[in-house]
Amino acid sequence: MYINGVWSGVSDRKEHAVMNPANGVAVDSIPLSTLDDCVNAVDSAAGAFESWSRTAPRDRSDLLYEAWRSLNARSDELAELIVAENGKTIADASAEVTYALDFLRWFAEEAVRIRGDYRLSPRGDKRIIVDRVPVGPALLIAPWNYPAAMITRKLGPALAAGCTMVIKPALETPLTAREIVRTFDELGAPDGVINLVTPGNAGPAVDRMLATGEIRKLSFTGSTAVGRILLRSTAEHVVKTSMELGGNAPFLVLEGASIEEAVEGAIQAKLRNGGAACTAANRLYVHRSCAAEFTERLAERISTLRVGSGVERINTVGALVSDAEVHKVRELIDQGVRQGANVVFQTEIPKRGAFMNITLLNGINSENVLTKKEIFGPVFPIVEFDDEVEAVRLANMTEYGLVAYVFGDEQAAMRVGHKLQVGMVGINRGVVSDAAAPFGGVKESGIGREGSFEGIDEYLQTKYLAISV
Ligand code: NAP
Repeated sequence: MYINGVWSGVSDRKEHAVMNPANGVAVDSIPLSTLDDCVNAVDSAAGAFESWSRTAPRDRSDLLYEAWRSLNARSDELAELIVAENGKTIADASAEVTYALDFLRWFAEEAVRIRGDYRLSPRGDKRIIVDRVPVGPALLIAPWNYPAAMITRKLGPALAAGCTMVIKPALETPLTAREIVRTFDELGAPDGVINLVTPGNAGPAVDRMLATGEIRKLSFTGSTAVGRILLRSTAEHVVKTSMELGGNAPFLVLEGASIEEAVEGAIQAKLRNGGAACTAANRLYVHRSCAAEFTERLAERISTLRVGSGVERINTVGALVSDAEVHKVRELIDQGVRQGANVVFQTEIPKRGAFMNITLLNGINSENVLTKKEIFGPVFPIVEFDDEVEAVRLANMTEYGLVAYVFGDEQAAMRVGHKLQVGMVGINRGVVSDAAAPFGGVKESGIGREGSFEGIDEYLQTKYLAISV
């Protein structure tokens, strides 16, 4: 916990052990922030806002560059910490660190490119100066699946824009957030600009922070269910919000697609982060003409993969973040099977630890729960379709709209991609995330964009000055 430049340990607070899900051993422990701590953190961010918002953009940029350099020099250490508290493989964690640090570098570059506007009114009676100013103290709430990237994707643009902040990481993975914040502290970020709290019960703590009326921006990444609650509670003080919520990504293999590319794309889109990604391909729609070949080749490919401790490089899929997550995934598979799904292939898993077998299923119809719920595990449900119109209809048959993947000849894939109700589309690619791209969803997958030029807009507001000619 870090409030107004002061770190607090576990000595005078309740303690929370952060567990390694691969072996059930405690990695470290953190203090649980009280409601008063959370309010103090907001006061601290509010107190630092005036001076931080007036710092030279170049100074804010330099701080972000220095943090990027410093964390980059310790990227292996950071990746190992992610493996320890989250369970993912070291390869996934290293990729996450690269992605996470890209946001610091990108927003170091953007800090000095915030543009305003200047125009003459149509009546010619005044000049209109349009300024873009930081929105105010921000509350940044992150989930456990990307312990570094979900922090930097918010902290980077917030700092660059001139906002101060209170960060609330997930209780499962607060140690990576602590390392990132510690780096900014060591680099001399002024007291109060970045605060870190770790309350034991997020709901009341966040309500209390919002009730201060000092938070002007809420950026949340997590489930749609919690996003809905937060949209309601931010309405009270009309807080600007960014919501990066759940996904249910369709993965489409069109007639004539390269099966080899589609199989590799599916592996990437599904198994990155062990399937615990909002961007994970949730349901695979495969044209009936190639469904048998695709299923067979995907099963063959999966049979070469191993699930096990993230520390061992031989494993493609590590542990899920907790036993509870494994239980949730197993329940979904059981339910899917009761509704007619057929298990084609399942890998082995270690005897102990929060591991989930990579599972391939077919015989699924569009009503099956595996096509409706976000699975968040290494599970591939295959649904067959007959034509493009049906594929688009099935893909859009969800309240979510984060990302979709389409494999096929480029023209057909682009045509289908344009018809999908999502914020992002991978065309013959299993990965879309990039710090330079606007990340975000439509429908109930969220509001706003992170990364890219758009990412900094989320922390700015427009102010106009009228000057008589
Ligand atoms: P979650 O349960 O919604 O939790 C996310 C964060 O919200 C955690 O920090 C959690 O704190 C906090 N939280 C929980 N209840 C809250 C409440 N009532 N008020 C305020 N904050 C609350 O989600 P998760 O299970 O950690 O993460 C998985 C979800 O995140 C998936 O749905 C996934 O799709 C989504 N996700 C979306 C994106 C995206 O960019 N669209 C990226 C990654 C993940 P505690 O840990 O203390 O409970």
